[in-house]
Amino acid sequence: MSIAENIKQIKSEIHETATLVAVSKTKPNEAIIEAYNSGQRIFGENKVQELVQKHEDLPKDIEWHLIGHLQTNKVKYIAPFVSLIHAVDSIKLLKEINKQALKNNRVIDCLLQVKIAEEESKFGLSKTEALAIINSEEIQQLKNINIVGLMGMATNSSDESQVKSEFKLLSELFTQLSIINSQLSILSMGMSNDYKLALNQGSNMIRVGSTIFGDR
Ligand SMILES: *Cc1c(COP(=O)(O)O)cnc(C)c1O
Repeated sequence: MSIAENIKQIKSEIHETATLVAVSKTKPNEAIIEAYNSGQRIFGENKVQELVQKHEDLPKDIEWHLIGHLQTNKVKYIAPFVSLIHAVDSIKLLKEINKQALKNNRVIDCLLQVKIAEEESKFGLSKTEALAIINSEEIQQLKNINIVGLMGMATNSSDESQVKSEFKLLSELFTQLSIINSQLSILSMGMSNDYKLALNQGSNMIRVGSTIFGDR
């Protein structure tokens, strides 16, 4: 199927309940334009340099999400335009995003990445750390960031019950934190292999790459 057909298919599966982030990392501008011409406006990249280059080259009404790990020293490159940062995993990083957003006279939306997978390598906060950030006076005083939700990645496994229980954990934490902080509205979970499971567990934002653009 074509890129446009793949997007149409996924959108028909998620109805209006979730937002689709088309993950275009490593893919050429032509592929993104094809998705754009079919109506897709939200794209996700995981590398700062690639994101900056694509923002420069492509239509200005694209909403760019950074979905990958972000180093503090690279925030300045994306602060002028990024519309959502998915993988925030420290107070230090939040402070730097706030500082760079202020310089650009913007308020930047952020998601806290929570570690739900078993693998050691995955980044992210523990539930306790996420709760501490949501409750932090110091963070509430940062005027140029908004923490608008949570993001997580399940273990890359064919064991559906494991993936499902990891998504369920994050979904429950999201519900719990939403009671404390009414600004939380986005639950970003689910990728090509597991977005259906994620949607069943309450995801309202899925990040899909290979199912749209083909293998990387
Ligand atoms: C690459 C990536 C995705 C998309 O992965 P696919 O399996 O290609 O859908 C989603 N989220 C993050 C954080 C990624 O790095």
